[in-house]
Amino acid sequence: MSAGAGIPVHVIGGGLAGCEAAWQLARAGVGVRLHEMRPRRPTEAHVSDRLAELVCSNSFRSDDAENNAVGLLHEEMRRAGSLIMAAADAHKVPAGGALAVDREGFAAAVQRALEAEPLVEIERGEVAGAPPEDWDSVIVATGPLTSPALSEAILALTGEESLAFFDAIAPIVYKDSVDLSVAWFQSRYDKGDGRDYINCPLSKAQYEAFIAALLAGETTAFKAWEMETPYFEGCLPIEVMAERGPETLRFGPMKPVGLSNAHGGEKPHAVVQLRQDNALGTLYNMVGFQTKLKHGEQTRVFRLIPGLEKAEFARLGGVHRNTFINSPRLLDPELRLRADPRLRFAGQITGVEGYVESAAIGLLAGRFAACERHRAPAAPPPPTTALGALLGHITGGAASETFQPMNVNFGLFPPLEGRIGKRERRRAYTRRALADLDGWLGAGRAAAE
Ligand SMILES: Cc1cc2nc3c(=O)[nH]c(=O)nc-3n(C[C@H](O)[C@H](O)[C@H](O)COP(=O)(O)OP(=O)(O)OC[C@H]3O[C@@H](n4cnc5c(N)ncnc54)[C@H](O)[C@@H]3O)c2cc1C
Repeated sequence: MSAGAGIPVHVIGGGLAGCEAAWQLARAGVGVRLHEMRPRRPTEAHVSDRLAELVCSNSFRSDDAENNAVGLLHEEMRRAGSLIMAAADAHKVPAGGALAVDREGFAAAVQRALEAEPLVEIERGEVAGAPPEDWDSVIVATGPLTSPALSEAILALTGEESLAFFDAIAPIVYKDSVDLSVAWFQSRYDKGDGRDYINCPLSKAQYEAFIAALLAGETTAFKAWEMETPYFEGCLPIEVMAERGPETLRFGPMKPVGLSNAHGGEKPHAVVQLRQDNALGTLYNMVGFQTKLKHGEQTRVFRLIPGLEKAEFARLGGVHRNTFINSPRLLDPELRLRADPRLRFAGQITGVEGYVESAAIGLLAGRFAACERHRAPAAPPPPTTALGALLGHITGGAASETFQPMNVNFGLFPPLEGRIGKRERRRAYTRRALADLDGWLGAGRAAAE
């Protein structure tokens, strides 16, 4: 490491988030020690010793920066000098409107860039417990398969209810796409402020048809090593509950009790409740509807529910082995653990979902840690940008009681003023985002000079 590097920031985990964080720190002139446990200690999903290995698909999803939230995130990261995006662009393979990469070439390019960077020292070995006390600035970016020894240490810092080893993701619907001439706002027994839940009623015939469709839906299987992880009854996929008997859901998440029908119709035989999912009130999750149904099947089956015939999904459901903390409760706006601010978290472990989102949070963690080293204020990106919207969601915008991993989507952005058509609305979001991002990056550059 070069003489000017100073005391290094320790980045634990050389995946998508850790590599991006290390790169951003080095670009800002800060020394880094990047700790990656592979190949000494493998994970259940990685197959190589490469940094930034993609564990499954080779897709970074849509690259449409004008109309798509993840495409916008790509563009924002490019403008912020992202190593992950530069390597992805250099190794892209044809995939229509998506950005897909040659995984070997991509990972090799990330590794080469970090190995060539004099401010980065790569250390192969597991951090098998709490980071040593003399590491004064640490970024934990160990991902969904964080090693058990480090997970134990995080558990001790955060408490059992704040670290999850499985996600149980219920589909999330844009509120604007729910038909409120069928569904209505009401909490069971009229508790709360009356806007917390939206209720979708089913008659007996509709309920039976829904259960039949659910049971016939094609699912994704758990991997053998996922089955070996302790698994909680509370996270059972909805189709597994339905397999236990046709009435199970009616006595579980679809129970019709404590509700009247605000539209004056007959008392529902069963109800699907949607609960407000973010402070902006733009997103609602389907309560208790975590599922292993394939994505196409979810859209088809869940649109059978009255009120959701035209539902647009901000994210679809899933149940996976994962490791993530309750970020809205635990982290401050600069991704520092409130209980021990020398530790920052980045990547999938913060409760974002996906390669791009994980790298994006790595980018921010790296920049924040660099500002701290330079004793400069770290302005977070504006909430109107994809980077800012994602950061705002995990550090406070999401409801902490029901926090589950999230990918970037326009429901996380502050709403636009006035009535704008759907297609034009996306362009208005992305135009506003890129203008605000350029202002933020410009202010950061000016402060550094
Ligand atoms: C089976 C599986 C399939 C997935 N498929 C997809 C997909 O198709 N598309 C998608 O977008 N996302 C997918 N994901 C999610 C994916 O893991 C994340 O999107 C992304 O890899 C997260 O980046 P990260 O940097 O947070 O974690 P990772 O990329 O996993 O990087 C974490 C790194 O930390 C290292 N590490 C762990 N513990 C320690 C320790 N104690 N000391 C030192 N090093 C440590 C690991 O070896 C790893 O290299 C999948 C996840 C899993 C588990």
